[in-house]
Amino acid sequence: MCTNAIEDISERMVKAGRELHKNGLVRGTSGNISARIPGTDTFLIKPSGARMEALEPGELVLVDLQGNKIRGEAQVSLETPIHAAIYRGRKDVQAVVHNHPPTATAFGIAKTEILPLQIEMFMLLPNGVPVVPFETPGSKALANAVQKNIANYDAILLENHGIVTVGPTIEAACSLNEMVEEAAKIQLSAMTIAGRDAMSLAELKEKFKKQNTVE
Ligand SMILES: [Zn+2]
Repeated sequence: MCTNAIEDISERMVKAGRELHKNGLVRGTSGNISARIPGTDTFLIKPSGARMEALEPGELVLVDLQGNKIRGEAQVSLETPIHAAIYRGRKDVQAVVHNHPPTATAFGIAKTEILPLQIEMFMLLPNGVPVVPFETPGSKALANAVQKNIANYDAILLENHGIVTVGPTIEAACSLNEMVEEAAKIQLSAMTIAGRDAMSLAELKEKFKKQNTVE
């Protein structure tokens, strides 16, 4: 049973990795993806130094919720502590994606939250995507900061680093990742036209709340 679950999840992670690369969300060896093995305190994660588009199911490393390796030859991703901290803190999360998509990452560098500017984005992320203050990659401090912030959001920006998205499935975490990068591109265009402070979260909440009551 468990072996089947591992095989199924491995295949889906490899497929998701190729999609992330195809969509320009990961480049080189950066970025990592993980998925919980249902009903266990373990998860599979991409090994360090592997390219997402060339990932093989057998390369994935099985680790426990403290980030200790249980199975696999390769070294685990540097950011394994982030993934482990999220699984410990959020029982509902089944998959985590961490990467550096260019536009969303630029928002983190600019210390600017991503706002749910369209109704679809608002339904998905009503509180937007906040910026988590900088901590050293791979550090316990970063894992703690991520765990604290992800408690209330499904997507976060890491200042001068990248982004993290989570979901109930691998596919959902990847799809949200794609949406966050798309939202960042739209917000960048809107800010270019209307100015950086032309929109606020409070204003959006008011607008979309009204919309909901009409429908
Ligand atoms: Zn990173």
